[in-house]
Amino acid sequence: METRHGKSVFSGVAIGKLFIYKKAKQVVEKHTVEDTEAEVARYMAAKEKAKEQLELLKEKTMKDVGEAEAEIFEAHQMLLEDLDFVEGITGMIEQDKVNAEYAVFVTGEQCAAIFMSMDDDYMRGRAADVNDISNRLIAILSGTQVSAEAMPEPVIIMAEDLAPSETVQFEKDKILALVTQKGSANSHTAILARMMNIPCIVTADIDLDPELTGKQGIVDGFTGNIYIEPDEVTAAVMEEKEERKLLLQSLKGLPTVTKSGKHIHLYANIGSEEDVDAVLENDSEGIGLFRSEFLYLGRDTYPTEEEQFQVYKNVISKMNGKKVIIRTLDIGADKQADYFNIPKEENPAMGFRAIRICLNRPEVFKTQLRAIFRASAYGTASIMFPMIISVKEVKKIKEIVEEVKEELRKKDIPFGDVELGIMVETPAAVMIADMLAPEVDFFSIGTNDLTQYTLAIDRQNQSLDDIYDPHHEAVLRMIQRTIECAHAHGAWCGICGELGADMELTRRFIQMGIDELSVSPVFTLELRKKIREAE
Ligand code: PEP
Ligand code: MG
Repeated sequence: METRHGKSVFSGVAIGKLFIYKKAKQVVEKHTVEDTEAEVARYMAAKEKAKEQLELLKEKTMKDVGEAEAEIFEAHQMLLEDLDFVEGITGMIEQDKVNAEYAVFVTGEQCAAIFMSMDDDYMRGRAADVNDISNRLIAILSGTQVSAEAMPEPVIIMAEDLAPSETVQFEKDKILALVTQKGSANSHTAILARMMNIPCIVTADIDLDPELTGKQGIVDGFTGNIYIEPDEVTAAVMEEKEERKLLLQSLKGLPTVTKSGKHIHLYANIGSEEDVDAVLENDSEGIGLFRSEFLYLGRDTYPTEEEQFQVYKNVISKMNGKKVIIRTLDIGADKQADYFNIPKEENPAMGFRAIRICLNRPEVFKTQLRAIFRASAYGTASIMFPMIISVKEVKKIKEIVEEVKEELRKKDIPFGDVELGIMVETPAAVMIADMLAPEVDFFSIGTNDLTQYTLAIDRQNQSLDDIYDPHHEAVLRMIQRTIECAHAHGAWCGICGELGADMELTRRFIQMGIDELSVSPVFTLELRKKIREAE
């Protein structure tokens, strides 16, 4: 058995025969042409033909994969018409008196090199799209064919790289997995693989030895491993993994209800817009924690209202009416951004952080609230506030929220009906939960911080890991009390800390009366299974 490795961009396990896919090398020769006008006309005709081919691919993708994915080919059609690209080619034919194939080849390489040099993964991924359209043009001009080979049975395709047009030309039910030496998580091939629901590994250290075609292989999209001629033990482990995945897949679309019929809202935690794909893929019922502080990290200035609005709007729109709970800025402690100029503190976890900063710098707070309220018009948004310790804070927050709403009303800017909640993550909040509950629509228990403050154990201190015990009875009683106080005052209560995904405790949480669990998207289906098995 040989084990190879790459970066998994879509999980799942595939077991089957390997198929080494090599593009027929296009040899582009350079000729001098006398009649440059005729050569430009030849190129223009090829461009039209390419557009027709792309139209057919677009229709096939629309049918096999989906409308959004078919847009890739619309983008290719636009790229074909891109003025810089077209004028680069015609200019070269006219000035250098070269044949169209050569002009397309050189211009395509130059454009791809520009994309590759960009400091942005998404833009680098576009180089493959430029190569794809210039290969298509060259194939048309030189009379060769761009098409994927017919495969006799479903296979694991291994290739140097795959252009989106190649990926969609394979028959969908003949691909078990895609493994490429190049590529990125943002390449369209990765996007298509995700939509086609097949494991996909990029930047894999594989050999493209044609001898491998027909040999047995396994792709583990969870770890990024590729096993060539797997031994029996590996094959058995992988088969079990695949069965488990299939079992979990069968839970998609099913309600998250206990045997006695109680619905537990099963939501997901995210840190960025990109994470929404995983939320939808795992069939989470909403977003229970959007850690908005990641928008503020890794930059030199505050994100503007407009920048934030776009992100919140995109997340809310993608969730298409499902609830999105945005937690306001929780900066400080382990999440620092220099431009906040927070003075050095002896004990930042108990220092100037989260809501304390927001109440101290109302303009920063209001900018974020305005962005969230504006975005709330595009779906179902809720807001929650971190690190609360007093009723006074909640009352102050509500005053500021009212000011923001009034400002928007005055400007006729629409916003939705937004639930307000707080994170219960300090022992203080637990002890006055009966006083806090009447002020809010919901509580979300942040067990990560609640455990550290209850047990007086720094969650960042690895040397204390063996006594950082989230199952500590003190923590569990805090959770119990929080749920009871919420319910006594008509609020709902969830958990968004890591403990929510601890399946040893699921039954206990249900017995306590929990209404919602918000977990990392990868745990969603497993947790749904656990909840459906509980009384
Ligand atoms: C928590 O404290 O449990 C929580 C969810 O928030 P964070 O981990 O971002 O502090
Ligand atoms: Mg916290």
